[in-house]
Amino acid sequence: MRIDETPGAEPPAIEKRLTGIGVSPGIAIGPAYLGDRGEITVSENRIAEAAVESERGRFAEAVAMSVKQLRKLRSRATALPGEASDEIGYVLDAHLAMLANSRLVRGVNQRIGRQRINAERAIQLETDEIGKTFAAMADPYLAARGEDIRVVSGRLIRNLLRKPYVPYSGLSGGAIVFAEEVTPADTALMDPRRIGGFATEFGGPEGHTAIMARALGLPAVLGVPDLLDRAQPDSEVIVDGTTGTVILNPSPETREVYRLRRAALQRERRQFGRLRRLPAVTRDGIEITLEANLELPVEVEHAMAHGAAGLGLVRTEFLYMNREDLPSEDEQYEFFASLVRGMEGRPVTLRTLDVGGDKLPEPLAGYAAADAANPALGLRAIRLSLRERRLLDTQLAAMLRAANKGRVRILLPMVSTLDELRRTREAMEQVARRLRRRGVAVPDPLPPLGAMIEVPGAALAADALAGEADFFAIGTNDLIQYTLAIDRTDEQVAHLYDPLHPAVLRLIQFAVEAAVRRRIPISMCGELAGEPRFAALLLGLGLRELSMAPQSIPRVKQRIRSLDMVAATRRARAIMDQADSGRIAALLDDFNATVGTA
Ligand code: PEP
Ligand code: MG
Repeated sequence: MRIDETPGAEPPAIEKRLTGIGVSPGIAIGPAYLGDRGEITVSENRIAEAAVESERGRFAEAVAMSVKQLRKLRSRATALPGEASDEIGYVLDAHLAMLANSRLVRGVNQRIGRQRINAERAIQLETDEIGKTFAAMADPYLAARGEDIRVVSGRLIRNLLRKPYVPYSGLSGGAIVFAEEVTPADTALMDPRRIGGFATEFGGPEGHTAIMARALGLPAVLGVPDLLDRAQPDSEVIVDGTTGTVILNPSPETREVYRLRRAALQRERRQFGRLRRLPAVTRDGIEITLEANLELPVEVEHAMAHGAAGLGLVRTEFLYMNREDLPSEDEQYEFFASLVRGMEGRPVTLRTLDVGGDKLPEPLAGYAAADAANPALGLRAIRLSLRERRLLDTQLAAMLRAANKGRVRILLPMVSTLDELRRTREAMEQVARRLRRRGVAVPDPLPPLGAMIEVPGAALAADALAGEADFFAIGTNDLIQYTLAIDRTDEQVAHLYDPLHPAVLRLIQFAVEAAVRRRIPISMCGELAGEPRFAALLLGLGLRELSMAPQSIPRVKQRIRSLDMVAATRRARAIMDQADSGRIAALLDDFNATVGTA
């Protein structure tokens, strides 16, 4: 302590600005909640002699998962500036060493066998015991290693429980969550009435966590290096999800600036409300269908409130999140039917399960390998559904029953072959026959069956797929990821994720032309569809149906209403002659500026 400080008084906190990737617009001001540092409660369960080996297996899996996470952190730490990189590197190396054949790992395995207890409790007991040994050491460096063991044990236990790092659902008072990583399942538990927003060290702009944050209207910034080490629990922070800024301990002046910006955003939202009843029609009279994407049930209200013409994409993954069992046919049916009712006669596009990649809910952990070398290229989406027919049949049955209540379309994720479409159609027909035998009403003809165009191969083979599919929906999030080989969840390559890359645009054009030739409907439901900046180009390429987060509808509608389709088509043609995405961006932005709403 310095001589001139009052004893016991805290030094004034200094404002710090950190930068990450703004993934969900809006401003949150509130107390920081440091997520990954939360305590977890563990209960003790006795296990049978016969279960000892499988319990050890669970523990080994948790160790492997923890090693993988730590290695990922380790490689990312190298990107930090100078000393920070070395310091964090040492700590992570120490954590990795504790997961090798260490006293901790050996001790836990022995306790599982000797005391016949669950792995979580064995970890806790062993950690306490090791902690006592360290605490007795006079050397402060060694005493600190005791703390490291507790951190590693916490990671192991959380991985065993496959639980979100903290019960986000229990937070309140506009807390702002800071965490190493927030999974899509964690995000689903966040209540926007009680949580202000969140920021993380990891995560890219097009991952499902980002999509969920936008769906909930929660301001969020991902990929902020070293966030947790710099933030103080409960200190005031600002998250600006529009610019990707996180401000720790804002000064009174900064706080005022952001308070005013937040008020301006709220005013803008109210103004957009007036657009709700106006059609999405270009100045030269071409009507565009604007639909909503839905990942959580609350969004039906948002979709209606923002004037959605239907649900262009219902992601069904949330039904499987934050639970241990699989959702039954009845449960899924109730949910789908509630969407059909909620949309009051507007079409509802239900997509079959799309798990794998960055989405692997707990009850499905045994179905697809969470630690596959390349999960985005692995047993994902329709591939998983066709292998685990029980999953697919249950969903199809629930969807067909809901289709009897209104306009339903069924959409398949990550289609890459004709065979996948044919086999799913056969499955749908079989399920329909089974339902009819049970005396359950099923629509005749069966609902349209469509394919997501989100794998480059599917876009290139769109002509053939259009012969088998009843409609297409372009998923640009994955299409860009797979075309440019950019992991959509990795903040380190986020700057290369370029929707205006000519390869991406050509694939979109190819798919649209194939659909038009075969006269099947085509929409776009990737995040690109919800950005007004791209509207002229997408319309110019021939798209007439866009599906997006409900909150994006008014902004896109406003842009469409100021566009001239003939001019947009001409500009799209000029853009498609270009090979350089910088030039493409300039042509697009220049066009947007001329329509006066850039
Ligand atoms: C996409 O890939 O663009 C898409 C809409 O699907 P998801 O984001 O759920 O993968
Ligand atoms: Mg996708």
